[in-house]
Amino acid sequence: MSGHAAPRSLMTGEEYLESLRDGRAVYVDGERVKDVTTHPAFANSALSVARLYDALHAPATRDVLTATDDFGLRTHRFFKPSRSAGELLAAREAIATWSRMGYGFLGRTPDYKAAFMSGLAANADFYGEFAPNATRWYQEFAGRGLYLNHVIINPPTDRKQAIHDMRDVFVHVEKETDEGIVVSGAKMLATGSAITNASFVAPVASAALTPGRGEDFAVVFFARMDNPGVKLICRTPYARRDRAPFDAPLSSRFDENDAVLVLDRALIPWEDVLVHRDIQRSTGFYARSGFANLYNFQSGVRLSVKLEMMAGLLSLGTKANGTDAFRGVQAAVGELVTMRNMVWGLTTAMAMDPEPGTDGIALPKLEYASAVRMYNAQVWDRVHEIFETTLGGSPLVVPSSARDLDHPELRPLIDRFYRGSDTTAQDRIKLFKLIWDAIGTEFGGRHELYERNYSGNGEQVRLDALKWATGRGAVAAYEEFVHTCMADYDTTGWTRGPWHTDPADAW
Ligand SMILES: Cc1cc2nc3c(=O)[nH]c(=O)nc-3n(C[C@H](O)[C@H](O)[C@H](O)COP(=O)(O)OP(=O)(O)OC[C@H]3O[C@@H](n4cnc5c(N)ncnc54)[C@H](O)[C@@H]3O)c2cc1C
Repeated sequence: MSGHAAPRSLMTGEEYLESLRDGRAVYVDGERVKDVTTHPAFANSALSVARLYDALHAPATRDVLTATDDFGLRTHRFFKPSRSAGELLAAREAIATWSRMGYGFLGRTPDYKAAFMSGLAANADFYGEFAPNATRWYQEFAGRGLYLNHVIINPPTDRKQAIHDMRDVFVHVEKETDEGIVVSGAKMLATGSAITNASFVAPVASAALTPGRGEDFAVVFFARMDNPGVKLICRTPYARRDRAPFDAPLSSRFDENDAVLVLDRALIPWEDVLVHRDIQRSTGFYARSGFANLYNFQSGVRLSVKLEMMAGLLSLGTKANGTDAFRGVQAAVGELVTMRNMVWGLTTAMAMDPEPGTDGIALPKLEYASAVRMYNAQVWDRVHEIFETTLGGSPLVVPSSARDLDHPELRPLIDRFYRGSDTTAQDRIKLFKLIWDAIGTEFGGRHELYERNYSGNGEQVRLDALKWATGRGAVAAYEEFVHTCMADYDTTGWTRGPWHTDPADAW
């Protein structure tokens, strides 16, 4: 990333890995990580992402994943604006193809932030004097296929305080120099940030910034991960080298470490700034960019893939337990399949019935996006409930590690006592360790927290849905519908229509 030129070809996996070796300041387990591509907490996740980049070039997947944009750049289909339902459907296939490579368990793959970046050039005018930055960043993003994380939430230091009273913690501009703005403060949670190229930093859409006092906090910019003022303080990693794939098949390769991003007097070059001390633009960009329409599209596709995986796991788990012929168990698997169909169906509606965005861009309709956003946050709770009631305690009927299978005294006992209805002991243990990694390990628990929260707190999700429906006149139309019903009658009887006034006449 040094020099930050905008080469015009998508990164390969190896180029992506090389882009991470830039001296970034990542802290974990009391040490500053020398190289995230070799550190056990990040190496396998970085390799999982590198596989996505290689797929952009592989003959078998290149055409499904990539297309040429308005600038003549070959890019991921979701990294460029879609201009028709057909292009949205093609973008969905590209998102799903990448998602399947992580079995739905990589949430913040590079296509997540494409939901904002894809329209950045088309919306460049919105950013006023910084419009050239918007165009340049789009071109670098689409041309290279950059991997961006995004941080918009302030740390939970004291939620009842006004933002401008939290200057010592929340991200704000300290000063301007000829080179750029100097920013300090922290944001949560920068998912995947340790293995990304840059962070997109902005206030959350609902941020209450008071004119005259909130301007320092009204900034939107990109922070490159090699910026000496950027520090990532990571949560406990779930990938550990001492755990065999057999014991941790998901957490050992798909852990997107969530970090607190700290900006410590970081100099952000002017060319990386989109909004500077502008309250209206600092949150207004959300509506203008179509981010909510598009990120919920990516999320819905990704969750559909994850639910396909969960439906397969549940079906195989019940067969291994010999419960698959029971009516209630079949109903549980059927419910899970239906949940997948619901989310996938919503993404079909989002693609096939779009709304116009800026400059002829086709955006998934906001009504469907708000439905995906709320439904997605509820689905995973039900998934857990179904797994835990349908499989009972069986996910824990596994020996402690793959090494137990090699123990000469244990192996005959394991083969006898751990076999499944339709599987050998080894296959049954392998299956249930995968199930437990999906729902029960620390990695599985983090996914539960992720699905519930990544799109905002539950109240905000619903408040936004109401705000959008009100803004578009839907709530007024629903109220008018009720008024129409009430206008059919008054205290004297029916005011219109064919109905009898005396209920007795009706019988
Ligand atoms: C695994 C994971 C990954 C994440 N990744 C990212 C990421 O990559 N980028 C990113 O930006 N964020 C990320 N987040 C953060 C996520 O967006 C937030 O957790 C989410 O928006 C909820 O916000 P919060 O955690 O601050 O909870 P809060 O907003 O504090 O909500 C907690 C409760 O307090 C109530 N509450 C809070 N404030 C108010 C108020 N002012 N008035 C009334 N009630 C209030 C809420 O209604 C809710 O019931 C991630 C979170 C998780 C768990």
